[in-house]
Amino acid sequence: MSHLQKTIKNPIYFKGVGLHTGENVNICLKPSEFNTGIKFKRIDVESTKSIIEANYKNVSSAILCTKIQNSHGISVTTVEHLMAAFYLEGVDNVIIEIDGSEVPIMDGSAFDFVEAIKAHGTEEQKCSKRFIKVLKKVEIKDGLKHISIEPFAKDLKIDFEIVYKNPLIRTRKKEFILSNSDLTSIYNSRTFCLYEDIQQIQNLGLGKGGSLENAIVVKENKILNDNGLRNRDEFVSHKILDCLGDLMLSGYRVFGHIKTSQGGHQLTNDLLKKFLSDNSNWQFTSLDEQKVEQKDSEYISPIAVNA
Ligand SMILES: [Zn+2]
Repeated sequence: MSHLQKTIKNPIYFKGVGLHTGENVNICLKPSEFNTGIKFKRIDVESTKSIIEANYKNVSSAILCTKIQNSHGISVTTVEHLMAAFYLEGVDNVIIEIDGSEVPIMDGSAFDFVEAIKAHGTEEQKCSKRFIKVLKKVEIKDGLKHISIEPFAKDLKIDFEIVYKNPLIRTRKKEFILSNSDLTSIYNSRTFCLYEDIQQIQNLGLGKGGSLENAIVVKENKILNDNGLRNRDEFVSHKILDCLGDLMLSGYRVFGHIKTSQGGHQLTNDLLKKFLSDNSNWQFTSLDEQKVEQKDSEYISPIAVNA
């Protein structure tokens, strides 16, 4: 992993359908300056209201996907797979121009985003990356669901457990360590749903762009997609991908250990809010574990950011 911040070398274009809105959308990722982070720019709205910072404080809904919104009420939804691609590829600063309200779902994973970033290349910038080092354990519980973050040296570890009554998905656990896990099996894992939940998702006005081209659909003990799963752990691997995308909304990389059972977008966002709201839980650090002072006025504190 580089100790310098990175952006992308050239603009990268994608087009596709939004999973929930069903709208056709075009996006263009553009290089941006160091210390500017990840920002969305809605090019279909008035320019003074168009910027939405990819920050956990801007999450306005986390039902089935992560939606971020600025103070003018302008939003972008389903940001998590693209954000996870930035986490996995070590990209810190990008502006994402988008002509609609939802990031295209592509094949339901982060595969296209990661492969395009790899193909176009990234560029190091003249400023060190900063990492959030966990100092104290913080936990959120919601019935049987829980998520916690605790100290872990110089790396990110995620222990994820999913618990489904469905006989095919069942209970699965996976341990992920950023520096030495198989990243391909994470970024190519697709979103999934139960066949019997589709009507309920549509009743919520969501899932309008969903199809077997962009989601795994499980009916009892059968997978309805022609070619089955891409890997044995695809369900839990996709949940780890979502978790990475939601963590990227902290604005930084994290040195810590996340443990979760039945985690999801809401729980990860609740954890980030609780964890980052108390300065005694964390400190900035660099890759060589030097404590980085927080008074550098050029740098955006994760607490101060709001669009
Ligand atoms: Zn997802």
